[in-house]
Amino acid sequence: AERHDVVIVGGGAGGIAVAASMLARKPGLDIAIVEPAEVHYYQPGWTLVGGGVFQASDTRKEMASVIPRGARWIKAAAAGFDPQNKTVLLEGGRTVSYTKLIVAPGLRLNWGGVEGLEQTLGKNGVTSNYRYDLAPYTWELVKGFRGGTALFTQPPMPIKCAGAPQKAMYLSCDQWMRQGVLSGAKVEFLNAGPVLFGVADYVPPLMEYVNKYGIQLSFGHNLIRIDGPAKRAWFKVTGKDGESSVVERAFDMIHVTPPQSPPDIVTSSPLANEAGWLDLDPATLRHVRYPDVYGLGDVSGAANAKTAAAARKMAPVVAVNLLRDMGALEEPHEAVYDGYGSCPLTVERGKVILAEFGYGGKRMPSFPKWFIDDLKPSKAAWLLKERVLPEIYWKAMLKGREPMAKPRRKSPAAAE
Ligand code: FAD
Repeated sequence: AERHDVVIVGGGAGGIAVAASMLARKPGLDIAIVEPAEVHYYQPGWTLVGGGVFQASDTRKEMASVIPRGARWIKAAAAGFDPQNKTVLLEGGRTVSYTKLIVAPGLRLNWGGVEGLEQTLGKNGVTSNYRYDLAPYTWELVKGFRGGTALFTQPPMPIKCAGAPQKAMYLSCDQWMRQGVLSGAKVEFLNAGPVLFGVADYVPPLMEYVNKYGIQLSFGHNLIRIDGPAKRAWFKVTGKDGESSVVERAFDMIHVTPPQSPPDIVTSSPLANEAGWLDLDPATLRHVRYPDVYGLGDVSGAANAKTAAAARKMAPVVAVNLLRDMGALEEPHEAVYDGYGSCPLTVERGKVILAEFGYGGKRMPSFPKWFIDDLKPSKAAWLLKERVLPEIYWKAMLKGREPMAKPRRKSPAAAE
């Protein structure tokens, strides 16, 4: 059977970044990346595709072009993990064994979890920025909207980029204001959760936009069924007392954020925590029971926000700790991850509220306040989102260059 010193499962934001980060530190390292897809996506760009700013094709590259030189690409899906025997089972029955394993297959979008949704996606006014092929349909619907009811949904947490459901809504409302159709529109945000945004400090500036656009907020509303041709949607409503009922809404357009869960290959393996996510130490990103296993990205069970920004900061932490454990890196201290994640909230075309925070919802702004005040919508943050972050993604993060991701070290004092 095939064997490598390091096997990475998943060639997405996290998998490619960590491969590049390790090779930058240790050229010649024997790495294999298990990844079935031909295409790698810059998913954070999909919000701007749905907002008519990017073309969908701006957000994709051939997988072959992002696999770092020196890494072997095993073009197959992983089907299971056997951490006792240090092997990964591949679809089709082959196995790959490893000295160190990095688990980074992202999360699962569960489109089938909403009855009737799959049949109607991409038609009947039903769209989602959570898929490459559907984000352009969002923009088509927004441009063609002449008034009526527009619904935006958010499923239960955790989801990737928790701000994305409302980003789609704000950009749509901004466009409708420009087209002069917002006043004739009824816009409703139906959120399974109890709050607009998980980090409380950002709620007041977001509420200003909710009010400006005249959006109705409905918390505790979880989309369970949709009938595209009839243009109706049903939500399970759970009250504070825990009692639940079902309510119906008619719509002219609906932007759906699908339910999300850990990937089955992790849930059904010994690597999962109780909730099914990868059971990682939140600081070192090493598995809590299998010290030769590490992980990063959306699959992580640590309590950080599931964002590419988080993966950018996690990659060097995994790279340093893994190489150090292998004896391949002279490094007195372990690297630690502080839970950093970021969510550039596109509140209008040309302005972003740049939410950046770590574990426990602690705000962690990267920039001085005079440049970007994270609690205020700013043009500079929009330019960062539109122009700078995609460049950082393709040219730094995926290439093992880490100007914005220098890992912190666990000093002996801080380890107490
Ligand atoms: P992914 O990048 O999703 O990659 C997972 C990879 O694993 C894929 O290539 C997949 O093919 C592969 N894979 C899956 N199963 C297997 C298997 N069994 N075997 C082998 N390989 C497998 N983040 C931000 O930082 N800022 C934003 O503004 C932002 N906005 C977003 C907006 C939208 C609409 C969406 C959808 C996401 C957004 N994100 C944003 C989130 C960001 O895209 C993800 O957090 C990030 O891509 C996670 O990286 P990952 O490597 O864990 O997963």
